[in-house]
Amino acid sequence: MTTVTWHRLTRAIERCRRCPLGHTRTHAVVYRGGERPSVVFVGEAPGRAEDATGRPFVGASGRRLDRAIAELGLRMDEVGVINLVKCRPPENRLPRRSVLACRPFLERQLELLDPPVIVTLGRHALAELVPDAPPITQAAGRERSWNRRPLVPLLHPAAVLHNPKLAPRWAADLDRLGAVLRRVLRQTL
Ligand code: SF4
Repeated sequence: MTTVTWHRLTRAIERCRRCPLGHTRTHAVVYRGGERPSVVFVGEAPGRAEDATGRPFVGASGRRLDRAIAELGLRMDEVGVINLVKCRPPENRLPRRSVLACRPFLERQLELLDPPVIVTLGRHALAELVPDAPPITQAAGRERSWNRRPLVPLLHPAAVLHNPKLAPRWAADLDRLGAVLRRVLRQTL
C-alpha cells in the first residue's frame, strides 16, 4: 500500500459524517494489521470495545479471531482486519444506509491493501461482497471469489462464542481456509 494514500484515506474516514453513525461514534474504526497483508478479514461493524479504542476486533470476538489467525500460522502483521462500516451502530444493529454510505471506503481499503485472499466474517460481510452467495451456514468454509481473487466466508466469531456447538464447524472451516491460503500464497511467493 502507498503510505501517503492510506494515511489520507484513514483521515477521510476519521472525519466522515456521511451517515448518522458519524455523529454518535467515539472513534472511527479503520484498520488493524500489517502494511502488506496476505489475507484481509472483513467483519461487520465496530462494537463497544472497538468504538472505545478505534481498533477493529479487540473485544471477545477479536480474541477468538486472533486465536484463529495464530492457528493458521499467520502473524498479525501478515493479516489485516476491517469492517463493512467504520462507526459503531447504536444497539449493534447494522443500518443498510450506513453499509451503502461506507462501501466506497471498504472498496478503497481492499484496493490499497490488495490481499491475495479475503475472508468475510458473518452473514452481513458475505452478503455485501458476494450478493449471490447462499446463507452463511451453507457458504462458510467454501471458497468463492471477489474481483478475481479468492474469498473464503467464515462464521462470525461472535456467533461461535455465543453458540459453542458451532466450534467444530468453525474449526473445520478454518482448516479449509488454511488449505486455500497454502495454495494461494505458494503461487504468489
Ligand atoms: S459509518 Fe462510514 S459512512 Fe458512516 S459516518 Fe462512519 S465512516 Fe462515514
